[in-house]
Amino acid sequence: MHVDLVTHWRAGEAWSGTGSRRGDVFDPATGRVVRQVAYAEQADVEAVVADAVTAGERWAAESLTRRTGVMFAFREALARRADEVAAVITAEHGKVLDDARGEVQRGLEVAEFACGAPHLLKGSFSDGVSGGVDVYSLRQPLGVVAVISPFNFPAMVPLWFVPIAIASGNAVVLKPSEKDPSASLLLAECWAEAGLPPGVFNVVHGDKVAVDALLTHDDVAAVSFVGSTPVARHVYETGTAHGKRVQALGGAKNHMVVLPDADLDSAADAAVSAGFGSAGERCMAISVVVAVDPVGDDLVEAIAQRMAGLTTGDGRQGCDMGPLVTGEHRDRVTGYLDAGVAEGAQLVVDGRQVVPKGAPEGFWLGPTLFDGVRPGMSVYDDEIFGPVLSVVRAASYDEALRIVNASPYGNGTAIFTADGGAARRYQREVQVGMIGVNVPIPVPMAYYSFGGWKASLFGDTHAHGTDGVHFFTRAKVVTSRWPDPASRTGVDLGFPRHD
Ligand code: NAD
Repeated sequence: MHVDLVTHWRAGEAWSGTGSRRGDVFDPATGRVVRQVAYAEQADVEAVVADAVTAGERWAAESLTRRTGVMFAFREALARRADEVAAVITAEHGKVLDDARGEVQRGLEVAEFACGAPHLLKGSFSDGVSGGVDVYSLRQPLGVVAVISPFNFPAMVPLWFVPIAIASGNAVVLKPSEKDPSASLLLAECWAEAGLPPGVFNVVHGDKVAVDALLTHDDVAAVSFVGSTPVARHVYETGTAHGKRVQALGGAKNHMVVLPDADLDSAADAAVSAGFGSAGERCMAISVVVAVDPVGDDLVEAIAQRMAGLTTGDGRQGCDMGPLVTGEHRDRVTGYLDAGVAEGAQLVVDGRQVVPKGAPEGFWLGPTLFDGVRPGMSVYDDEIFGPVLSVVRAASYDEALRIVNASPYGNGTAIFTADGGAARRYQREVQVGMIGVNVPIPVPMAYYSFGGWKASLFGDTHAHGTDGVHFFTRAKVVTSRWPDPASRTGVDLGFPRHD
């Protein structure tokens, strides 16, 4: 059967590259291969980066007014094509259509933030720091930057970085996930419609070969990576060893602490929504509920009751939860169900029993609930990245906090309570980058920055917001004196003091 090839995007148009390696792209709801994606070789990456260097130099020299105009036009093009992008995400990732629309919306918000480039890139000015001397700061683009993204947000994660990088005057090479590569080409078309000059936004598809070629290329100045922790560590170590600025966002294990005074219905609603939305394939998914005594039994019952009402099936058919991204990933996740039972956890709801609304060959696993989970079990320790929710029991707030802080990850967390003092204490004491108070998925708005702590982020700066602007620009400070005979000081070998 013939399937279309997902190509690279070079110099403003589709490009097949020089290599012959290809990867299969599945429709996870049918289990069928629907496309193939070209895998870039080192020579392909070199050709694209060479174009990007030239295009980037011209783009950086464009006026801020012109660059901002393109940003507004990109925002409009993407908003116009949002449903088309969402449909492609559902077809290759599997998440339900409404969720895919939500992903595009959150990406659009970063494009809107980047439309404020004239304000975001403003420097500061100090008039007359000493006789005739002024001091001012400015921010300049880095050159060519690489963005390497994961499968679980094929549009939103690239959009966390690309609009800010481009508005700041850089050229971008995006290496999307090979599992769901097509959304990146729709983004490329939106940039072209917006009037972005060819070569400023580029896409290379592929695997480790393409990633490593970017990480070691002399003309790539910075790398924004999002993916699993082992790969994030590799990207950070390799990129920084090659002199690049790197932000590498890694995996997660997000805990939701439920205190005894919490509204139980809201907590159960939140645990189910945040545990099973996008089949648990979100870096901000809740994968562990820490139930503080005596809330455990009632909470487990309330969660299980809600799970019974969820429908699993084809994301185009109005179901609550779609399939997993590939058969291989589904099998890996399913393996944790046997492991959890063998390690002594209680399997309260078994997702293998699900009757999906969709083709039998789809990559299905229904919502799964474990109770009695403890640190040290693989279902607790590993990032499963699927629809598997674990309940851990804790005797007190202090024990709950100790459990959360002992995790090697620190991406997101939530606390459910009616006690403002307890919530405030938690937000100060927990070792996690993004915290929800009675909010289960605390993804910051575009004008704040997104990022975790510990093994969830390698590097110093988070994604988007002011951190994003700082990541994609380099600062200069100018100390300036214009000739003024009246302020001439003559020869002075002392260290400059502005008094
Ligand atoms: P992944 O690490 O397998 O892949 C991410 C990217 O790295 C892809 O583009 C992939 O092609 C590339 N890659 C894979 N293996 C590589 C290797 N050995 N060398 C070089 N490059 C390689 O991640 P994934 O499975 O696509 O995405 C899921 C992971 O991403 C989860 O761990 C999830 O928590 C994480 N994630 C984190 C955040 C965050 O903000 N912290 C956001 C989204 C996803």
